[in-house]
Amino acid sequence: MSDSGIRVGLGHDRHRLVPGRPLILGGVTIEFEMGLDGHSDADVLLHAVTDAILGAAGLGDIGEWFPNTDPQWGNANSAHFLLTAIDEVRKRGWEISNLDCTIHAERPKLSPYKHSIAARIADLLRLDVTQVNVKAKTGEKVGPIGRQEAIDADAIVLLVRSTPET
Ligand code: MG
Repeated sequence: MSDSGIRVGLGHDRHRLVPGRPLILGGVTIEFEMGLDGHSDADVLLHAVTDAILGAAGLGDIGEWFPNTDPQWGNANSAHFLLTAIDEVRKRGWEISNLDCTIHAERPKLSPYKHSIAARIADLLRLDVTQVNVKAKTGEKVGPIGRQEAIDADAIVLLVRSTPET
């Protein structure tokens, strides 16, 4: 069977909004009175991006690589998960063509942060900022997003083969 040399991957994540935690989205700390609950730093966007990258390469999901029952990932910087994933993917001869993502949050207003978040993710992945797009949507005041109970993130990534398959 011929190989198209491209792979698509999808990622989704949700974390609960709680008081007394920092809000970190795409590696950027955001001024807000609440933050995301989780075993690691709960960076919902980096988790979705990591899952998209792992998925595109057929490498399972973030929970298999970094179980949230493992004490070593307590309060972990999620950049570590992302960097491990991209390293494994590059070792297998894949490179990211582009990455698109959406953050779903009623508050805070994320439009002032979209470009700095995209720049941070591009920097972590050693991509040009034009290869990374970050969108933000509210929950229209309904559902867990609209009631400010959670923040969700979606990500989709396209991998292209960078070295011939061996
Ligand atoms: Mg997560």
